[in-house]
Amino acid sequence: MPLVNAKEMLTKAKAGHYAVGQFNINNLEWTKAILLTAQEMNSPVILGVSEGAGKYMCGYKTIVGMVEGMLENLGITVPVALHLDHGSYEGAKACIEAGFSSIMFDGSHYPIDENIAKTKELVAVCEEKGLSIEAEVGSIGGEEDGVVGAGECADPDECKMIADLGVTMLAAGIGNIHGKYPENWAGLSFETLAAVQEKTGTMPLVLHGGTGIPAEMIQKAISLGVSKINVNTECQLAFQEATRKYIEEGKDLVGKGFDPRKLLAPGVEAIKATVKEKIELFGSADKA
Ligand SMILES: [Zn+2]
Repeated sequence: MPLVNAKEMLTKAKAGHYAVGQFNINNLEWTKAILLTAQEMNSPVILGVSEGAGKYMCGYKTIVGMVEGMLENLGITVPVALHLDHGSYEGAKACIEAGFSSIMFDGSHYPIDENIAKTKELVAVCEEKGLSIEAEVGSIGGEEDGVVGAGECADPDECKMIADLGVTMLAAGIGNIHGKYPENWAGLSFETLAAVQEKTGTMPLVLHGGTGIPAEMIQKAISLGVSKINVNTECQLAFQEATRKYIEEGKDLVGKGFDPRKLLAPGVEAIKATVKEKIELFGSADKA
């Protein structure tokens, strides 16, 4: 099945009270692990690419080629969207050009008027080309490719203004943070989420920084209109831990244990296990 945009899968998720996972990719192993797990679980999936990961993987065209090749070669039949994560205005245009099926324009650091103007322009381009588009209001805390946000709560009225521009999905800051959560984290602001959901109605809401949010908070967020949850750091930690174990146990020194296909295999299995666990938690299994 060719790439699809994220509109249909998220509209169904919002109506069905579950969420679709966005799992960020870093290389071939990551992408393959996520696609195979989504297929095994019969779940729709969104592959996220940050601008930094885009550069790392030799540009957006390389990524489109890799993902499209895998969809065919692995016989993937579940809906897959290829989505730019936290895109700049220029990055969004480059991904549209390269063949992504979905983009996020993160204009949260602009004054609201400028965020609206740029989002509006990109909504028109995406509509014409059949892509889905995510916008952001209220910056999300933590560090994403060097941009450090404070973890603020979005203004529900501003969320409504951006939602009314015709975006497909909306990321609103509700106290969530990218990366590992600090010990003294105050938790998600369900008050903000409920207010945003009330103002934006059927708009699928996006929860960034899904790593380390307790399961019951995730489920409550889904019940309040979150239909897309971004997972990035958690797969990185799972990969790191499994790879460290393989080397610390000296397995790379035994036989052909140095072969990258062997050396990276435990990390790949760990990513698969993480993705499986998230798909189960988000409720998107068998929703393809
Ligand atoms: Zn994010």
